[in-house]
Amino acid sequence: MIRERSNHLNDRDANTFEDVSQIYQAFDVDIAAYRGEAACSKGCAYCCTDAGRIDITTMEGLIISDAIGRMPRPRQNQIKKALARDMKKCETGKPSACAFLQKNSACMIYPARPFACRRVYSLHVCTRDKPPQLHRQVMQRAQETVTALQRLDHNGYSGHLSYILHMLEAPRFRKTYLAGESKPEEVMAFGKSHGIVINKMVV
Ligand code: SF4
Repeated sequence: MIRERSNHLNDRDANTFEDVSQIYQAFDVDIAAYRGEAACSKGCAYCCTDAGRIDITTMEGLIISDAIGRMPRPRQNQIKKALARDMKKCETGKPSACAFLQKNSACMIYPARPFACRRVYSLHVCTRDKPPQLHRQVMQRAQETVTALQRLDHNGYSGHLSYILHMLEAPRFRKTYLAGESKPEEVMAFGKSHGIVINKMVV
């Protein structure tokens, strides 16, 4: 879970980190019995390579960005390049493995991974022709969880992981976001210029 965090966070964000963690935990508890039937095994990274976009909220992006900030500088630079490559691939429509996936199929940010990764499991071993299959009840519970995460992020956005992290790197966006404000027109223009969709929270 999300145990550590940087000292530079204000109280609002520190508390929200805890709230996000609790939402993740409540989901895990509620679906534990269903997940027990999963065919997933260690070393399978299908969901990190072939399952499509990983969408996150801005608050989840802040949690990930905080985790990256505590990594050694060379690792941070490596991630920066991988995120830029991922954005390029997204814009050319090419399939792209997650920027945080390591050669040994482990996740670099596992304790801080977003809900999009936490919600997925499969009742069968996945292939390109056989995407993950989840229980209907879990999909319903996952949707409720997404809504709860979005409610917490009242001045935030949701979109593909690499773009949300890229936005949080921009001092102007970060300052506005951390001040509890939003400038949706700037974010929409950013999305348009990259040919992607960044959603303003509507809940
Ligand atoms: S963040 Fe981690 S778990 Fe999620 S897709 Fe990327 S490598 Fe996989």
